[in-house]
Amino acid sequence: MRLVLMGPPGAGKGTQALKLVERYTIPHLSTGDMLRAEVSASSDIGKKAKALMDAGNLVPDDILVDMIARRISKDDCRNGFLLDGFPRTVAQADALATMLAEKGLGLDGVFILDVDDQALVERIERRVVQDKAAGKPVRADDTPEKLKTRLEAFHGQTKPLVDYYQKKGLLSRIDGMQPVEAVAAALTKALEHRKAS
Ligand code: AMP
Repeated sequence: MRLVLMGPPGAGKGTQALKLVERYTIPHLSTGDMLRAEVSASSDIGKKAKALMDAGNLVPDDILVDMIARRISKDDCRNGFLLDGFPRTVAQADALATMLAEKGLGLDGVFILDVDDQALVERIERRVVQDKAAGKPVRADDTPEKLKTRLEAFHGQTKPLVDYYQKKGLLSRIDGMQPVEAVAAALTKALEHRKAS
């Protein structure tokens, strides 16, 4: 199964993605994690991405498209994958459709977690407190100020994908304001419904 999980920053994509990949035994492709690994390794990509990420802005499409094209060509993606954080722009979505079509493949479903902006601000503030208490480093972009930029990127560049995937009949909207387990149940239900149809 080839799936996309979308949602604003702090919507709980990472948490839900982990549950889905465990349930469906497919690899979890988080472009945020992949980029953070590049930054840690001080690779060319990491050097180009760091300042943009720290500021809460999107990294250029060509870098992301190339990264995902290479990743989904790997053997472990033969039976599918869950994309988390990609695509984030219409150009990325078009590139994804093209790279899959070249392999004679397509997406099986796109899921968006809907969460109010105000709830996201509260969640990020909680995450910072929890990370600090656990002695974990706080991400440079996980602050209320950077969240504003990340939300602007989401509303301006990623939100148009809701219409894009709705028109393709691929989108399921999930109420991300519910408790974690209820969101997981709603996701599973929507996914099973797609598989059956
Ligand atoms: P995330 O962990 O998904 O919130 O991503 C963290 C940061 O990585 C984002 O704020 C962007 O700077 C960058 N990033 C991740 N995925 C993408 C993408 N598909 N397109 C552009 N930038 C991305």
